[in-house]
Amino acid sequence: MPPAPLSLLSPVEGPPDPGGGDCLACGRCCHHAPSTVSLLEEDEARLDEATLRRLTILQDRPPHMRFLRNDGAKCAALGTPEAGPFACAIYAVRPTGCRTVEVGSPCCLEARALGHLGTSVEFVRADVRDGRDGRDGA
Ligand code: SF4
Ligand code: SF4
Repeated sequence: MPPAPLSLLSPVEGPPDPGGGDCLACGRCCHHAPSTVSLLEEDEARLDEATLRRLTILQDRPPHMRFLRNDGAKCAALGTPEAGPFACAIYAVRPTGCRTVEVGSPCCLEARALGHLGTSVEFVRADVRDGRDGRDGA
């Protein structure tokens, strides 16, 4: 069965618990399109080979960026048998981009309102996509 379109995910009513207490009942920021969350070298270094093969995909064309796998509507790492469908299976070693989404931030609130990640999030690899290395302040 094809994955549900992002737009069919229901919004989450109300503001989030500022302490992240309702993230496990939300998970909207982990719903996004494929090739949304890329991995830096240090992100790759935190994951073992088996996890990299299972949960990430390496582009076969330059610049050979590595992304979290995605079924079309959500991250492949979302959901665990123990903690539920909106728990991150690799939370302790999640990529840098995931760490930019803070509870109560504009992209968190947008994700809750839309039912999926929106356009207000800025991931760290935007500089790479733009041909800059991100260290020169450009
Ligand atoms: S959208 Fe906000 S409240 Fe929902 S899981 Fe993400 S950080 Fe938590
Ligand atoms: S790695 Fe974890 S925090 Fe990042 S998008 Fe996937 S499920 Fe969400």
